[in-house]
Amino acid sequence: MTSTAFPIQDYALLDDEECDARIIAAKAKLGKRCVILGHHYQRDEVFKHADYSGDSLKLSRDAAQSEAEYIVFCGVHFMAEVADILSRPEQIAILPDLAAGCSMADMANLLKVQKCWQELAQVIDVENEVTPVTYINSAADLKAFCGKHDGIVCTSSNAQKILEWSFSKRSKVLFFPDQHLGRNTGYRMGIGLEDMVTWDFNKPMGGLTEVQIRKAKIILWNGYCSVHQVFKAEQIDNFLERFPETKVISHPEACFEVCEKADYVGSTEYILKTVREAEPNTRWLVATELNLVNRLHEECKAQGKNVHFMSPTLCMCSTMFRTDPQHLAWVLENLAAGNVINRISVPVEEAGLAKRALDNMLAIN
Ligand code: SF4
Repeated sequence: MTSTAFPIQDYALLDDEECDARIIAAKAKLGKRCVILGHHYQRDEVFKHADYSGDSLKLSRDAAQSEAEYIVFCGVHFMAEVADILSRPEQIAILPDLAAGCSMADMANLLKVQKCWQELAQVIDVENEVTPVTYINSAADLKAFCGKHDGIVCTSSNAQKILEWSFSKRSKVLFFPDQHLGRNTGYRMGIGLEDMVTWDFNKPMGGLTEVQIRKAKIILWNGYCSVHQVFKAEQIDNFLERFPETKVISHPEACFEVCEKADYVGSTEYILKTVREAEPNTRWLVATELNLVNRLHEECKAQGKNVHFMSPTLCMCSTMFRTDPQHLAWVLENLAAGNVINRISVPVEEAGLAKRALDNMLAIN
């Protein structure tokens, strides 16, 4: 039974405590019909309501295995698209705030990637020489592009395995949208910086010469994450001067110089596992999103561990931050009343091709 949808304006003035109570009540009413997925970068007030938490890879698996009718994704737009693509047709993916995007994902779009592919085709045999690899932080149509061209999706947890798979098929990789994940992973696999070129999507032919394109093993899209861009190698030097015993751990979306100075490099799940399993009374300097680092610090301080955020400037993912308790209460109460709000639905043909690229990835892990 449906009723007229409750408007978001009715929720704007609710304080977080009242939202909490209403979220809990709506969840109880929905029961097993609804599952809430929460990315590690979500703020605490939202994160605490998640049934499952994790990074993009873990949550995409959780979405695929979920039995719930409604998958409410507290994350950003591309994650809800992945949930829609991997879930069964009768399941519904919902994003509490439709404005929660990802600035990195927005740095590559289908038109620009198609232009790049066509320009590369003037120099090399793209279909036989290049495997397109998209980071999961990308729109569904780019995943579909990879599915169409026998390519694949990767996450920060599995990027090396995905590049190995890609090179087993063809001699080159076009990697988008995050240059840093591509470069950091390629370098750790033994690919020299001279064999990785950056494709400047604002310039004809990516700003590259034909010789550079022919020689390159990885062509890196010129995108980046503005959150992980704040971390600098000097911050590590300065911190180590004060606390030389510190272990440094970085997400691979941070720049090459930071990852080279770090003792450990890996996804958010890897960072959590490494610090949680470390010896008591150790000190950690962490280069990833602030909400995750703060939660990890709180969790580990009883073991005498000190977990520090790398940058002196506080920087959180502003798009993740858009999902607040008010929006979560809004979508859940509407669902409980039979109104589907903020559904994310990828067109069928695009979803089929994108699923091909996602399935290629899921088969490898
Ligand atoms: Fe996108 Fe960066 Fe935010 Fe992750 S942290 S969702 S890559 S903007």
